[in-house]
Amino acid sequence: MEFDSDTFRRVMGHFATGVSVVTTLDPSAAGERPVGITVNALSSVSLDPPLVMVALDRRRRITPVVRAAGRFAVNILGESQQWLSDCFAGAPVVPDREAFCGAAWRPGETGLPILDGVIASLECTIAGIHPVGDHDLFIGRVIALANEEVHPMPLLYYRRRYLRIERATTLELEGKPEE
Ligand SMILES: Cc1cc2nc3c(=O)[nH]c(=O)nc-3n(C[C@H](O)[C@H](O)[C@H](O)COP(=O)(O)OP(=O)(O)OC[C@H]3O[C@@H](n4cnc5c(N)ncnc54)[C@H](O)[C@@H]3O)c2cc1C
Repeated sequence: MEFDSDTFRRVMGHFATGVSVVTTLDPSAAGERPVGITVNALSSVSLDPPLVMVALDRRRRITPVVRAAGRFAVNILGESQQWLSDCFAGAPVVPDREAFCGAAWRPGETGLPILDGVIASLECTIAGIHPVGDHDLFIGRVIALANEEVHPMPLLYYRRRYLRIERATTLELEGKPEE
């Protein structure tokens, strides 16, 4: 059966995800310049040790930078942060990615850039890199993490559009919760 990559993207777009910005400090730049990219190919892969995976297209300028830095942070965006998702995905806005989208940030526990207002963040050292197809799978060992006790709802992405969660969710969970 034959299909093109647009069809593949369209079908996979039915899997709704959150949206994150993966950040790191470019070790080749003076003063370790913060850089970032919008990512929804994010997954938790192990609880013990705590590992996450992000998949970065090898053609992206930031991919070799993350590899060289040996570490990255995952910033999980809230529903009001679509502008960060757009900018870090290369939207023609000012300030652009070259200026870290003008985003306010602070160094996390390990010094990695944590964007102001994100609903949760993870700081990772790279435990493995697996080239698969046209992407590199970065396995991150989680060193530090944080989430806001009171935080906005997450920004969602579905069929190449942003979505927000409806508040009227009163249904009880019927499946078995994870232990
Ligand atoms: C919701 C969503 C989820 C996404 N998920 C993923 C994902 O999981 N994995 C993935 O690989 N892509 C993902 N993308 C795509 C990715 O965010 C953008 O497509 C990508 O950053 C755009 O790259 P580009 O084609 O402009 O090429 P790039 O090579 O990234 O950039 C082209 C030019 O932009 C400038 N530039 C690039 N990066 C920077 C930087 N950090 N700082 C300053 N300038 C820079 C440079 O001038 C460069 O020459 C996602 C996009 C969206 C909207």
